[in-house]
Amino acid sequence: MNPPSTDPVEPSEPVEPQPSIVVSSATTPRQLGADDRAGQRCGLIAIVGKPNVGKSTLLNALVGQKISITSRKAQTTRHRITGMRTLAETQYVFVDTPGFQTLHANALNRSLNKAVVGAVSDVDLILLVVEAGSFTGADERVLKLLDAKIPTILVANKLDNVHRRGDIAPWLQQMQQRHAFVEFVPMSAKNPKDIERLLGICSKYLPEQPFWYAEDELTDRSEQFLASELVREKLFRLTGDELPYTSTVIIDKFEEEPPARKGQKRLLRIAATIVVERDGHKAMVIGDKGERIKRIGMETRQELEKLADAKVFIELWVKVRSGWADDEARVKSFGYE
Ligand code: GDP
Ligand code: MG
Repeated sequence: MNPPSTDPVEPSEPVEPQPSIVVSSATTPRQLGADDRAGQRCGLIAIVGKPNVGKSTLLNALVGQKISITSRKAQTTRHRITGMRTLAETQYVFVDTPGFQTLHANALNRSLNKAVVGAVSDVDLILLVVEAGSFTGADERVLKLLDAKIPTILVANKLDNVHRRGDIAPWLQQMQQRHAFVEFVPMSAKNPKDIERLLGICSKYLPEQPFWYAEDELTDRSEQFLASELVREKLFRLTGDELPYTSTVIIDKFEEEPPARKGQKRLLRIAATIVVERDGHKAMVIGDKGERIKRIGMETRQELEKLADAKVFIELWVKVRSGWADDEARVKSFGYE
């Protein structure tokens, strides 16, 4: 990897991050004989909820492999992420959402809220994730965004944190008064048995229609998108709570080279810019003698090499761009809707 930049770098015309993909139009139905299709179910499921309730953890468990990015830090999932799972005669297509933002009312968050509403307007089923035993004003605001005509399951997550199980029944009764949920599922996203049970429950709400995807497909996101999400995940993991979540990652270059020799892997050449708001944040990202940014690059490379089954070369840059979170046009140019 090249040494990290210490000067503000003007990245070359940034490659636009992939726009959010509308799942239903991004798919080509498989060529299937009429007999194959009998009894198949397939549909879109939105996972919504306030930050930190476990949406990304749940999605990853439902899909069975890491697709969305989880983090202890709230609000690091800014893009809609899809994952899919095919089990027997059911294909589940998941849409993750960034969570309803309640802390800041700047342009970035306005665009996030639009993304939440957009993500749930055309799905077959909604999973509203809350923490078991709790329903706050923030949960209520997410619930208000939902279309009452779409079947909604209340997922009461983190049941393992509830020590007085007897409190759950009366709480569920209160939840019944709040909304016409079609099911109540107290569970833990970290418990595989609960995940299996939830998949079974979801299945009956998906329409009978042929699969949209090949059975082994996990995401329709591009490798370029996975690369930017991985850099962002490492960035937040390795800076802890110091770095504001407004920091972002732009992929400046994403090139693929075929294997040099037979039996070797193809090469992905990637250049990415981490955009922060202040000089102090830049120093934080670079770290002592460039150690932190080297580690971000190294961990991203290792994980992407596994996910993409390729050799990866990644170059990282850091750039200060103050106040971008307040600038509507700039938010758009970074690819948020
Ligand atoms: P998101 O912001 O809603 O996407 O939440 P994340 O999936 O990033 O999870 C936030 C935190 O909750 C992480 O530290 C997860 O490990 C944790 N978490 C998620 N599901 C569970 C669960 O079922 N039980 C417990 N104890 N923790 C969970
Ligand atoms: Mg998340």
